[in-house]
Amino acid sequence: MFHSTKIMATLGPASSSKAMVKKLLNHGTNSFRLNTAHGDLGQYNRMVANVKAVSNDVPVVVDLKGPEMRCVLKNPLSVSRGTTAWFGFSAKDEFSFNRDFYSNVKVGSKIFFEDGRCGAKVIEKKDRKLKLGFSGSFELKSNKGVNVPGVGLDFPALSKRDKNIISWAKGKGLHVFALSFCRSASDVLALKKVLGDEPIIISKIESNEGVKNFREILSVSDGIMVARGDLGVEVKKERIPLLQKKMIMRCLNEGKFSIVATQMLESMIKNPYPSRAEVSDIANSVLDGADCLMLSGETAIGSYPVESVKEMRSACEAVEEKVPNLVDMKFSSSTSDSVTKTIYRLSHYLKVNRIIAFTKSGYTCQMISRFRTKVPVIGVSWKKRTMNLLGFYFGVVPVAVKKEPRSSREIISLLMKQKLLKKGNKVILTGNMASGKEQHSNMIEVQEIR
Ligand code: PGA
Ligand code: MN
Repeated sequence: MFHSTKIMATLGPASSSKAMVKKLLNHGTNSFRLNTAHGDLGQYNRMVANVKAVSNDVPVVVDLKGPEMRCVLKNPLSVSRGTTAWFGFSAKDEFSFNRDFYSNVKVGSKIFFEDGRCGAKVIEKKDRKLKLGFSGSFELKSNKGVNVPGVGLDFPALSKRDKNIISWAKGKGLHVFALSFCRSASDVLALKKVLGDEPIIISKIESNEGVKNFREILSVSDGIMVARGDLGVEVKKERIPLLQKKMIMRCLNEGKFSIVATQMLESMIKNPYPSRAEVSDIANSVLDGADCLMLSGETAIGSYPVESVKEMRSACEAVEEKVPNLVDMKFSSSTSDSVTKTIYRLSHYLKVNRIIAFTKSGYTCQMISRFRTKVPVIGVSWKKRTMNLLGFYFGVVPVAVKKEPRSSREIISLLMKQKLLKKGNKVILTGNMASGKEQHSNMIEVQEIR
């Protein structure tokens, strides 16, 4: 079945059995996320094996934690307004943090736990420990995310644990990675250096620095994630709607893909139905131009993972027809930019049924997807990486071929066999014909299929 908006589901205890993976795929999941904040390699092995047993094609995104911070508690800590507790930075401490930010905070600095659900202030600093005063009732558990807003933390892009996970992932043939708390292009380049071998990299924008350096981060990434959970703690929550629109818009203009994440169906962790506000948020994210939407706790630990995917899918489908073209349509000096803009216009004039792009790197297809054409864009490629990449783009149907097609006729007959085209269809074919250059869409052909 064809999906315009792509859905990524986070794997977890509620979703990683083979039966569940199958159901989630059947109801419209297009990729899975392995959130390495939780679990160990043994568990990841089982999750990946279960996904692969059901489908070899669906991408599993390895979400690396990068410079993310977490709390480590020997025992849960019940706090209420006025509770104080000492937090250190060593594994020996009863309450500690996994990263040393002692010298980055001062008395009065704010520290948040679990996406800002629990807040505290530093009220004393002594002997490499912080005395925290809490501001409300909360049951604090180990391994939950920690945010220290406004403090530019200078940790390396990848921890030792991340590096272990990377070598495990490479051994499993996984090559789509998300980088949490990406701060700059150099964080992405550090990851690329370790990965080698043409990975697909999704940079998660979830801090002040990530927002500030967004353009340079995007220029070295394949796609980005608007990671609203942490972002809403690191910057003011009320900035999120406009930041989301701005980042997505930039992605559309550059032909990069964007993912909107967190709390999309939060209430469905417990309830079988979404709130009206959640349905609106999903629809508005699609209308903003997001390529892909992510489910987190809803599929990882929720009581209704399948229902969550179903609700997300129908909320997307209800508005996909109405997604506007947000790309700046002035022609530019780039051949690909101008050729794909012409294709977009031509597809309206000629009322075509499909746009077909032959694409080695995926570029031609990415550049067409950005217009949110009303007809599917079929991306035909002979490269595995391209198949994975195109799977994240709105409106794109990736089709794998064994080798570079020699003629339009060859492609058309293949797509007819796959029932993606039928007699009477009008199509536009495009790609990079004998230019000898990379990322160079230079061909437009119109065909009526007889
Ligand atoms: P996380 O990322 O779920 O890995 O924290 C997404 C977010 O912060 O929104
Ligand atoms: Mn996050």
